[in-house]
Amino acid sequence: MPAINAIEKDFNLLANNQKLLARKAGGKFTIATLGSHCSLQLLKGAKDEGFRTLLVCEKRRLGLYRRFRFIDEIIEVDNFKEVLSDKCQKRLKQANSVMIPHGTLISQMRSDEIEKIDTPIFGNKWILRWEADRKLKEKLMKEAGLRIPRTVKSKDDISGLCIVKLHGAAGGRGYYLAWSRESFEEGARRLIDQKMIRGEDDLYIQEFVRGVPVYLQYFYSPISAEIELLGIDRRYESDIDGIGRIPAKQQLGAGVEPSYNVIGNIPLVLRESLLDEVYKMGENFVRAAERLVPPGMTGPFCLEGVYDSEGRFTTFEFSARIVAGTNLYLDGSPYSGLLYVDPMSMGRRIAREVKIANKNGKMSKILT
Ligand code: AMP
Repeated sequence: MPAINAIEKDFNLLANNQKLLARKAGGKFTIATLGSHCSLQLLKGAKDEGFRTLLVCEKRRLGLYRRFRFIDEIIEVDNFKEVLSDKCQKRLKQANSVMIPHGTLISQMRSDEIEKIDTPIFGNKWILRWEADRKLKEKLMKEAGLRIPRTVKSKDDISGLCIVKLHGAAGGRGYYLAWSRESFEEGARRLIDQKMIRGEDDLYIQEFVRGVPVYLQYFYSPISAEIELLGIDRRYESDIDGIGRIPAKQQLGAGVEPSYNVIGNIPLVLRESLLDEVYKMGENFVRAAERLVPPGMTGPFCLEGVYDSEGRFTTFEFSARIVAGTNLYLDGSPYSGLLYVDPMSMGRRIAREVKIANKNGKMSKILT
Protein backbone atom coordinates (compact mmCIF):
# COMPACT_ATOMS: atom_id res chain seq x y z
CA MET A 1 0.00 0.00 0.00
CA PRO A 2 1.54 3.29 -1.13
CA ALA A 3 0.40 5.25 1.95
CA ILE A 4 2.18 2.86 4.31
CA ASN A 5 5.26 2.83 2.05
CA ALA A 6 5.31 6.61 2.26
CA ILE A 7 5.12 6.49 6.06
CA GLU A 8 7.89 3.88 6.16
CA LYS A 9 9.97 6.06 3.89
CA ASP A 10 9.43 8.99 6.26
CA PHE A 11 10.51 6.86 9.20
CA ASN A 12 13.60 5.68 7.33
CA LEU A 13 14.43 9.27 6.48
CA LEU A 14 13.95 10.22 10.12
CA ALA A 15 16.14 7.34 11.25
CA ASN A 16 18.84 8.35 8.73
CA ASN A 17 18.65 11.95 9.90
CA GLN A 18 19.09 10.78 13.44
CA LYS A 19 22.09 8.68 12.46
CA LEU A 20 23.54 11.72 10.69
CA LEU A 21 22.91 13.88 13.75
CA ALA A 22 24.53 11.25 15.96
CA ARG A 23 27.59 11.21 13.73
CA LYS A 24 27.74 15.00 13.85
CA ALA A 25 27.61 14.79 17.64
CA GLY A 26 30.68 12.61 17.40
CA GLY A 27 28.05 10.48 19.00
CA LYS A 28 28.87 6.85 19.16
CA PHE A 29 27.73 7.48 22.71
CA THR A 30 24.40 6.25 23.99
CA ILE A 31 22.63 8.14 26.75
CA ALA A 32 21.24 5.63 29.25
CA THR A 33 19.19 5.82 32.42
CA LEU A 34 16.73 3.92 34.64
CA GLY A 35 13.05 4.03 33.61
CA SER A 36 11.63 6.25 36.34
CA HIS A 37 11.86 9.74 37.93
CA CYS A 38 12.84 11.97 34.95
CA SER A 39 13.91 9.37 32.38
CA LEU A 40 11.48 10.61 29.73
CA GLN A 41 12.87 14.13 29.93
CA LEU A 42 16.47 12.82 29.91
CA LEU A 43 16.06 10.58 26.88
CA LYS A 44 13.94 13.07 24.93
CA GLY A 45 16.66 15.68 25.54
CA ALA A 46 19.34 13.20 24.47
CA LYS A 47 17.46 12.42 21.27
CA ASP A 48 17.01 16.14 20.51
CA GLU A 49 20.79 16.44 20.72
CA GLY A 50 21.25 13.52 18.32
CA PHE A 51 22.16 10.69 20.68
CA ARG A 52 21.13 7.07 20.73
CA THR A 53 19.06 6.36 23.83
CA LEU A 54 18.76 3.36 26.13
CA LEU A 55 16.44 2.69 29.04
CA VAL A 56 16.90 0.10 31.78
CA CYS A 57 13.28 -0.70 32.53
CA GLU A 58 11.46 -2.85 35.06
CA LYS A 59 9.12 -5.27 33.29
CA ARG A 60 6.08 -3.90 35.12
CA ARG A 61 6.72 -0.44 33.66
CA LEU A 62 7.27 -1.47 30.02
CA GLY A 63 3.74 -0.51 29.04
CA LEU A 64 4.47 3.13 29.75
CA TYR A 65 7.93 3.42 28.23
CA ARG A 66 7.16 1.54 25.00
CA ARG A 67 4.92 4.45 24.03
CA PHE A 68 7.82 6.76 23.27
CA ARG A 69 9.67 6.66 19.96
CA PHE A 70 12.70 8.54 21.24
CA ILE A 71 13.72 5.48 23.27
CA ASP A 72 15.91 3.38 20.95
CA GLU A 73 16.60 0.40 23.18
CA ILE A 74 15.15 -1.06 26.34
CA ILE A 75 16.97 -3.47 28.65
CA GLU A 76 14.28 -5.32 30.58
CA VAL A 77 14.93 -6.14 34.23
CA ASP A 78 12.79 -7.54 37.03
CA ASN A 79 14.25 -5.07 39.48
CA PHE A 80 16.45 -1.96 39.11
CA LYS A 81 19.21 -3.58 41.18
CA GLU A 82 19.88 -5.79 38.14
CA VAL A 83 21.58 -2.83 36.53
CA LEU A 84 24.58 -3.89 38.62
CA SER A 85 24.64 -7.36 37.04
CA ASP A 86 27.42 -8.36 34.63
CA LYS A 87 24.89 -8.95 31.86
CA CYS A 88 23.38 -5.50 32.12
CA GLN A 89 26.73 -3.76 32.53
CA LYS A 90 28.09 -5.63 29.50
CA ARG A 91 25.25 -4.42 27.28
CA LEU A 92 25.56 -0.86 28.57
CA LYS A 93 29.27 -0.89 27.78
CA GLN A 94 28.78 -2.43 24.34
CA ALA A 95 26.43 0.45 23.56
CA ASN A 96 29.10 2.89 24.73
CA SER A 97 26.69 4.29 27.29
CA VAL A 98 26.88 7.32 29.49
CA MET A 99 24.60 6.67 32.44
CA ILE A 100 22.62 9.58 33.87
CA PRO A 101 21.92 9.18 37.61
CA HIS A 102 18.63 10.38 39.11
CA GLY A 103 16.61 10.07 42.32
CA THR A 104 15.56 6.47 41.70
CA LEU A 105 19.17 5.31 41.41
CA ILE A 106 19.93 7.00 44.75
CA SER A 107 16.88 5.63 46.53
CA GLN A 108 17.21 2.05 45.19
CA MET A 109 20.95 1.55 45.59
CA ARG A 110 23.50 2.02 48.32
CA SER A 111 26.31 4.53 47.74
CA ASP A 112 28.94 1.78 47.51
CA GLU A 113 26.85 0.00 44.85
CA ILE A 114 26.58 3.19 42.78
CA GLU A 115 30.31 3.82 43.14
CA LYS A 116 31.02 0.32 41.78
CA ILE A 117 28.96 0.77 38.60
CA ASP A 118 31.30 0.13 35.68
CA THR A 119 29.45 2.17 33.08
CA PRO A 120 30.68 5.78 33.02
CA ILE A 121 28.36 8.01 35.05
CA PHE A 122 27.61 11.58 34.01
CA GLY A 123 28.78 13.94 36.75
CA ASN A 124 30.55 13.09 39.98
CA LYS A 125 29.33 9.74 41.33
CA TRP A 126 31.31 10.27 44.57
CA ILE A 127 29.19 13.27 45.53
CA LEU A 128 26.04 11.13 45.56
CA ARG A 129 27.25 9.65 48.86
CA TRP A 130 27.30 13.20 50.25
CA GLU A 131 23.67 13.59 49.25
CA ALA A 132 22.61 10.30 50.87
CA ASP A 133 24.48 10.75 54.16
CA ARG A 134 23.02 13.43 56.46
CA LYS A 135 26.33 14.23 58.19
CA LEU A 136 28.27 14.65 54.95
CA LYS A 137 25.36 16.65 53.55
CA GLU A 138 25.48 19.10 56.43
CA LYS A 139 29.27 19.39 56.13
CA LEU A 140 29.08 20.35 52.45
CA MET A 141 26.29 22.88 53.03
CA LYS A 142 28.30 24.49 55.85
CA GLU A 143 31.43 24.58 53.69
CA ALA A 144 29.37 26.39 51.02
CA GLY A 145 28.45 29.04 53.59
CA LEU A 146 24.74 28.40 53.13
CA ARG A 147 22.27 29.36 55.87
CA ILE A 148 21.00 26.00 57.12
CA PRO A 149 18.44 24.93 59.74
CA ARG A 150 19.74 23.87 63.14
CA THR A 151 20.27 20.13 63.49
CA VAL A 152 18.77 18.84 66.74
CA LYS A 153 21.17 16.20 68.07
CA SER A 154 18.77 14.39 70.39
CA LYS A 155 15.07 14.22 71.15
CA ASP A 156 15.88 15.75 74.56
CA ASP A 157 17.15 18.91 72.85
CA ILE A 158 13.90 19.59 71.00
CA SER A 159 12.69 23.10 71.72
CA GLY A 160 10.33 24.67 69.25
CA LEU A 161 8.90 23.20 66.08
CA CYS A 162 11.04 20.55 64.33
CA ILE A 163 10.72 18.40 61.24
CA VAL A 164 11.71 14.74 61.64
CA LYS A 165 13.15 13.11 58.53
CA LEU A 166 14.17 9.67 57.29
CA HIS A 167 17.58 9.12 55.67
CA GLY A 168 17.98 8.92 51.89
CA ALA A 169 15.95 10.27 48.96
CA ALA A 170 12.54 9.26 50.27
CA GLY A 171 10.69 12.17 48.65
CA GLY A 172 9.37 13.44 51.99
CA ARG A 173 7.71 10.10 52.80
CA GLY A 174 7.26 9.55 56.51
CA TYR A 175 8.41 13.04 57.55
CA TYR A 176 6.56 14.46 60.54
CA LEU A 177 6.51 17.47 62.82
CA ALA A 178 7.52 17.33 66.48
CA TRP A 179 7.66 20.02 69.18
CA SER A 180 8.58 17.93 72.23
CA ARG A 181 10.22 14.65 73.23
CA GLU A 182 6.75 13.08 73.49
CA SER A 183 5.55 14.16 70.04
CA PHE A 184 8.87 12.91 68.58
CA GLU A 185 8.44 9.49 70.23
CA GLU A 186 4.81 9.24 69.16
CA GLY A 187 5.77 9.86 65.50
CA ALA A 188 8.69 7.40 65.73
CA ARG A 189 6.39 4.68 67.12
CA ARG A 190 4.03 5.19 64.18
CA LEU A 191 6.88 4.75 61.67
CA ILE A 192 8.16 1.66 63.47
CA ASP A 193 4.64 0.15 63.38
CA GLN A 194 4.48 0.90 59.66
CA LYS A 195 7.93 -0.78 59.28
CA MET A 196 9.32 2.38 57.70
CA ILE A 197 12.16 2.55 60.24
CA ARG A 198 13.81 0.09 62.62
CA GLY A 199 14.27 2.51 65.49
CA GLU A 200 14.60 6.13 66.51
CA ASP A 201 18.24 6.14 65.34
CA ASP A 202 16.97 6.04 61.76
CA LEU A 203 15.54 9.54 62.23
CA TYR A 204 17.08 12.97 61.79
CA ILE A 205 15.67 16.03 63.57
CA GLN A 206 15.92 19.47 62.04
CA GLU A 207 14.63 22.91 63.02
CA PHE A 208 11.44 23.67 61.08
CA VAL A 209 11.93 26.85 59.02
CA ARG A 210 8.84 28.98 58.49
CA GLY A 211 8.27 30.41 55.04
CA VAL A 212 7.67 29.12 51.52
CA PRO A 213 9.59 26.16 50.05
CA VAL A 214 11.56 26.79 46.84
CA TYR A 215 13.70 24.42 44.73
CA LEU A 216 16.51 26.00 42.69
CA GLN A 217 17.59 23.94 39.66
CA TYR A 218 21.18 24.58 38.55
CA PHE A 219 23.60 23.20 36.00
CA TYR A 220 27.35 23.61 36.35
CA SER A 221 29.61 23.04 33.37
CA PRO A 222 33.23 22.20 34.23
CA ILE A 223 34.04 22.86 30.57
CA SER A 224 32.85 26.48 30.42
CA ALA A 225 33.33 26.88 34.22
CA GLU A 226 29.91 28.55 34.31
CA ILE A 227 26.84 28.02 36.41
CA GLU A 228 23.36 28.22 34.88
CA LEU A 229 20.02 28.56 36.64
CA LEU A 230 17.68 26.50 34.46
CA GLY A 231 14.47 26.45 36.48
CA ILE A 232 12.70 26.90 39.80
CA ASP A 233 9.81 24.91 41.23
CA ARG A 234 8.02 24.03 44.39
CA ARG A 235 6.73 20.64 45.38
CA TYR A 236 3.11 19.67 45.74
CA GLU A 237 3.07 17.51 48.84
CA SER A 238 0.33 15.35 50.25
CA ASP A 239 -1.21 16.04 52.49
CA ILE A 240 0.49 19.13 53.92
CA ASP A 241 -0.55 21.15 50.84
CA GLY A 242 -4.12 19.93 51.16
CA ILE A 243 -4.51 20.59 54.84
CA GLY A 244 -5.66 24.18 54.27
CA ARG A 245 -8.79 22.68 52.68
CA ILE A 246 -9.86 21.47 56.10
CA PRO A 247 -10.97 24.27 58.44
CA ALA A 248 -9.04 24.61 61.75
CA LYS A 249 -11.91 23.35 63.92
CA GLN A 250 -12.21 20.09 61.94
CA GLN A 251 -8.41 19.70 61.81
CA LEU A 252 -8.27 19.82 65.60
CA GLY A 253 -11.26 17.53 65.99
CA ALA A 254 -9.96 14.93 63.57
CA GLY A 255 -6.37 14.96 64.97
CA VAL A 256 -4.96 15.51 61.48
CA GLU A 257 -1.30 14.37 61.18
CA PRO A 258 0.31 15.98 58.08
CA SER A 259 2.70 14.11 55.79
CA TYR A 260 5.13 15.47 53.17
CA ASN A 261 4.85 12.92 50.39
CA VAL A 262 5.75 14.48 47.01
CA ILE A 263 2.97 14.08 44.47
CA GLY A 264 4.11 16.54 41.82
CA ASN A 265 5.80 19.86 41.17
CA ILE A 266 4.54 23.37 40.49
CA PRO A 267 6.43 25.98 38.41
CA LEU A 268 7.68 29.10 40.11
CA VAL A 269 9.46 32.33 39.27
CA LEU A 270 11.21 34.41 41.90
CA ARG A 271 11.28 38.16 42.37
CA GLU A 272 14.08 39.29 40.08
CA SER A 273 15.82 41.02 43.00
CA LEU A 274 16.43 37.59 44.58
CA LEU A 275 18.22 36.12 41.57
CA ASP A 276 21.68 37.56 42.19
CA GLU A 277 21.86 35.75 45.52
CA VAL A 278 20.54 32.57 43.90
CA TYR A 279 23.50 32.57 41.50
CA LYS A 280 25.95 33.34 44.32
CA MET A 281 24.64 30.46 46.45
CA GLY A 282 25.01 28.09 43.50
CA GLU A 283 28.56 29.29 42.85
CA ASN A 284 29.54 28.92 46.50
CA PHE A 285 28.14 25.39 46.48
CA VAL A 286 30.16 24.49 43.38
CA ARG A 287 33.39 25.88 44.92
CA ALA A 288 32.75 23.99 48.19
CA ALA A 289 32.14 20.73 46.30
CA GLU A 290 35.41 21.21 44.38
CA ARG A 291 37.26 21.49 47.70
CA LEU A 292 35.56 18.61 49.52
CA VAL A 293 34.54 16.09 46.83
CA PRO A 294 36.77 16.25 43.74
CA PRO A 295 36.13 16.64 40.87
CA GLY A 296 33.28 18.74 42.31
CA MET A 297 29.65 19.46 41.39
CA THR A 298 29.51 18.55 37.71
CA GLY A 299 26.18 18.96 35.88
CA PRO A 300 22.73 19.32 37.44
CA PHE A 301 22.06 19.96 41.10
CA CYS A 302 19.40 21.54 43.25
CA LEU A 303 19.39 23.70 46.38
CA GLU A 304 16.21 23.14 48.32
CA GLY A 305 14.99 25.48 51.01
CA VAL A 306 12.61 28.03 52.38
CA TYR A 307 12.33 31.80 51.83
CA ASP A 308 11.21 33.54 55.02
CA SER A 309 9.17 36.74 55.23
CA GLU A 310 12.38 38.83 55.01
CA GLY A 311 13.32 37.18 51.69
CA ARG A 312 16.13 35.16 53.33
CA PHE A 313 16.80 31.67 52.00
CA THR A 314 17.54 28.77 54.35
CA THR A 315 18.77 25.63 52.55
CA PHE A 316 17.45 22.45 54.18
CA GLU A 317 18.67 19.97 51.53
CA PHE A 318 20.54 19.62 48.28
CA SER A 319 20.36 17.09 45.48
CA ALA A 320 23.66 16.46 43.75
CA ARG A 321 22.00 15.32 40.51
CA ILE A 322 18.95 16.08 38.37
CA VAL A 323 15.70 16.54 40.35
CA ALA A 324 12.22 15.54 39.20
CA GLY A 325 11.04 19.17 39.37
CA THR A 326 12.95 19.73 36.11
CA ASN A 327 10.25 17.62 34.37
CA LEU A 328 8.18 20.82 34.31
CA TYR A 329 10.49 22.37 31.77
CA LEU A 330 10.71 19.91 28.89
CA ASP A 331 10.31 22.88 26.54
CA GLY A 332 12.52 25.20 28.54
CA SER A 333 11.77 27.46 31.49
CA PRO A 334 11.55 31.23 32.05
CA TYR A 335 15.22 30.97 33.10
CA SER A 336 16.62 28.64 30.43
CA GLY A 337 14.96 30.93 27.85
CA LEU A 338 17.31 33.70 28.97
CA LEU A 339 20.35 31.55 28.16
CA TYR A 340 19.38 29.41 25.15
CA VAL A 341 17.54 29.80 21.86
CA ASP A 342 16.68 26.08 21.83
CA PRO A 343 14.03 24.89 24.30
CA MET A 344 16.55 23.66 26.88
CA SER A 345 15.38 21.11 29.41
CA MET A 346 17.83 19.91 32.04
CA GLY A 347 17.92 16.57 30.21
CA ARG A 348 18.84 18.25 26.94
CA ARG A 349 21.45 20.41 28.70
CA ILE A 350 23.14 17.25 30.01
CA ALA A 351 23.20 15.74 26.52
CA ARG A 352 24.59 18.96 25.11
CA GLU A 353 27.40 18.89 27.66
CA VAL A 354 28.27 15.34 26.55
CA LYS A 355 28.30 16.54 22.95
CA ILE A 356 30.54 19.54 23.73
CA ALA A 357 32.89 17.45 25.87
CA ASN A 358 33.16 14.79 23.18
CA LYS A 359 33.86 17.34 20.46
CA ASN A 360 36.62 18.93 22.52
CA GLY A 361 38.18 15.71 23.83
CA LYS A 362 37.09 16.54 27.38
CA MET A 363 34.93 13.54 28.27
CA SER A 364 37.08 12.86 31.33
CA LYS A 365 35.95 16.21 32.78
CA ILE A 366 32.29 15.21 32.87
CA LEU A 367 32.37 11.48 33.66
CA THR A 368 33.32 9.40 36.69
P1 AMP B 1 12.92 17.10 51.49
O1 AMP B 1 12.54 15.71 51.06
O2 AMP B 1 13.98 17.12 52.52
O3 AMP B 1 13.21 17.99 50.32
O4 AMP B 1 11.68 17.73 52.26
C1 AMP B 1 10.35 17.49 51.93
C2 AMP B 1 9.51 18.66 52.36
O5 AMP B 1 9.60 18.84 53.77
C3 AMP B 1 9.93 20.00 51.78
O6 AMP B 1 9.42 20.25 50.51
C4 AMP B 1 9.36 20.96 52.79
O7 AMP B 1 7.97 21.15 52.61
C5 AMP B 1 9.55 20.24 54.08
N1 AMP B 1 10.80 20.59 54.78
C6 AMP B 1 11.94 19.87 54.80
N2 AMP B 1 12.85 20.41 55.64
C7 AMP B 1 12.27 21.50 56.18
C8 AMP B 1 12.67 22.46 57.16
N3 AMP B 1 13.86 22.39 57.77
N4 AMP B 1 11.80 23.43 57.48
C9 AMP B 1 10.59 23.50 56.90
N5 AMP B 1 10.13 22.61 56.01
C10 AMP B 1 10.95 21.61 55.64
